[in-house]
Amino acid sequence: MSNSVPAGLNPAQREAVLYLDGPCLVLAGAGSGKTRVITQKIAYLLQDCGYMARNVVALTFTNKAAREMDERVKTLVDPRIAKGLTISTFHSLGVRMLREEARHAGLKPQFSILDADDAMAIIQEMLATTDRGRLRAVQSTISLWKNALVGPDEAERSAQTAGEAEAARIYRSYDATLAAYQSVDFDDLIRIPALLMAHNEEVRTRWQNRVRYLLVDEYQDTNVCQYQLVRWLTGLRDQFTAVGDDDQAIYAWRGATMENLAKLTTDYPGLKVIKLEQNYRSVQRILLAANNVIQKNPKLFEKKLWSDLGVGEPIEVVAMNDEEAEAQSIAMKISAARFERRAQWRDFAVLYRSNHQARVIEQALRTAKIPYTIAGGQSFFDKAEIRDVLSYLRLIANDSDDPAFIRAATTPRRGIGQATLQALGQYAAERQVSLFEAAFEQGLEARLAPRQIEPLRTFAEFIQRMQWRAGRGAEGRSARPAEPAGQLLDDLMAAIDYERYLYDTLDEKPAQTRWLNVLELTGWLKRKAEEDGLNLFELVQHVALVTMLERQGEEEPDAVKLSTLHASKGLEYPHVYLAGVEEGLLPHLGKDDEQGDPARAAESLASRIEEERRLMYVGITRAQRSLCLSWCKKRRRAREDVVREPSRFIEEMGLGSGGPQEDDATARLSPKERLGMLKALLAKGPQKVG
Ligand code: ATP
Ligand code: MG
Repeated sequence: MSNSVPAGLNPAQREAVLYLDGPCLVLAGAGSGKTRVITQKIAYLLQDCGYMARNVVALTFTNKAAREMDERVKTLVDPRIAKGLTISTFHSLGVRMLREEARHAGLKPQFSILDADDAMAIIQEMLATTDRGRLRAVQSTISLWKNALVGPDEAERSAQTAGEAEAARIYRSYDATLAAYQSVDFDDLIRIPALLMAHNEEVRTRWQNRVRYLLVDEYQDTNVCQYQLVRWLTGLRDQFTAVGDDDQAIYAWRGATMENLAKLTTDYPGLKVIKLEQNYRSVQRILLAANNVIQKNPKLFEKKLWSDLGVGEPIEVVAMNDEEAEAQSIAMKISAARFERRAQWRDFAVLYRSNHQARVIEQALRTAKIPYTIAGGQSFFDKAEIRDVLSYLRLIANDSDDPAFIRAATTPRRGIGQATLQALGQYAAERQVSLFEAAFEQGLEARLAPRQIEPLRTFAEFIQRMQWRAGRGAEGRSARPAEPAGQLLDDLMAAIDYERYLYDTLDEKPAQTRWLNVLELTGWLKRKAEEDGLNLFELVQHVALVTMLERQGEEEPDAVKLSTLHASKGLEYPHVYLAGVEEGLLPHLGKDDEQGDPARAAESLASRIEEERRLMYVGITRAQRSLCLSWCKKRRRAREDVVREPSRFIEEMGLGSGGPQEDDATARLSPKERLGMLKALLAKGPQKVG
């Protein structure tokens, strides 16, 4: 027996770890040790099977999950052997592929990655509207097309409504604009590598030779694009292990489809399917409630989960008057429980459906002096105003940072329009220089009118002056020392008049909030510069480092975790508080379907509730020992109190009774029969309840 497959695996897990004869799918419920299979299998591949770390790639969905997996592997494998191992999100792998293969995608290696805000600004320019709802709709339609590998041509052909046709037109020019900017958006990070793998043999061969074993966690949430990437990467050897749980598929709204599970069984006829049945996470009461809820969904695959961690304490359901009372009660309960259970803050998590629920909970925790961290929330350095100001600093420090150039050049507006930037981007791409450099070149004058060039050069010269004052070009010369960073910062802020820009473009309240954030940033930067004697260039590097560290969150402080249900996927906590378990919030039903077709509306309502039910299942199954649900009798929506009712999911948990009788017929099927059943069910497509 191998030395690195330890005793901490049950026979089914062990089978999944040791199986190397072909593609392997572990399809099992929450907390059954799927992720553990992945980490143990990585160790097995490296230590016992002679795989080189650089040939093994494991993919997960969030940075946090990747980090946790990395930590787990490090405890199992000698770090020297694990060196070069890739454990990352689909997106980070995509960035790496794109960087190395930029040439084949018609990109410079220092291509820029636009975030959702940058992308939204481009779409807004094209749509010429400020209607946020419309903008978001177009952006998410384009995103869905990209994730389904549907190009602008096909989108245009298949458009059925006027709205879709417009979105398709925007899609085409949006794509062209990104190309001209030498930029990609978030979706492209997976889409372009997938397309390269499909159409470019050189790229395909290189990566197929590099990735000799692929592991994918949370497989149920892959979309078409990700699936194609997996398919191409594993195309040569069919050596991969995917683990997932169809009952935890919560990203249909982002284009993930369960058909990808079905496709696996047809695309890989030799697929080995392994089932895990023991849950090692939760006490029986919690597991039973979770099973009861998910039972209401049509099943792709019968799962029986059991736990030997004892019955556990009763699940608590509390009704509160409003969200403030709810937040205070959670804070009080956590305080008391920490004391009574002799627990640590980090043993507690508060989970909720929507980001906006976090604010009052944060306030209550702060008032109660309870330390907390927020997952899946916006970090300080991700705020638009912070990114605006930092884009200037980034550009001054590194003028080939094209997205920084675009952001700084257009925020605040200074007469540099989209057409100008597009021409500049094209010219820079042809000349293979940065936007900044291109702005100074004579050749540009043939492409742009003087009135377009003028604001461009004014801006570029302003940046150049700042560079000069910050000490650029002073190396080797004696006379000109860099000016203090604090002074430069003040002058910069005065010159761009960012405060006025905020008050011109926003309502007073948000403008004020943002300006205070900017002051916090510049104050912090100036202090840092003085304390550590940094010049502006060093300061920018320091910020980049801090930003990265914050993203990586090196040390987990002892704090209560606040998280959306989506961001809690794959994680576990001893004590979980699930807030806002109300109709309209969980299930969150969104706007009523605008499409006139009642059958379609009814169908999408049914499938939406199923997805919300899976989300509820994810929430319940995060808890190890205790679970407390709360709902509010009324909740403030847009300054109005709205009467609320408890979520249907609370009743579905069957807390009063012993829960519905379990149907034993399918539990006795052999794995092969079950796979047959899975195939048959998948062929029919998911069934709807009711
Ligand atoms: P999810 O569906 O929520 O992602 P999962 O199936 O990936 O869950 P893991 O996170 O791998 O489950 O495991 C759940 C918990 O059970 C972890 O704390 C893990 O360490 C523990 N565990 C898994 N397998 C075993 C085992 N064979 N013996 C003891 N503990 C185990
Ligand atoms: Mg997992």
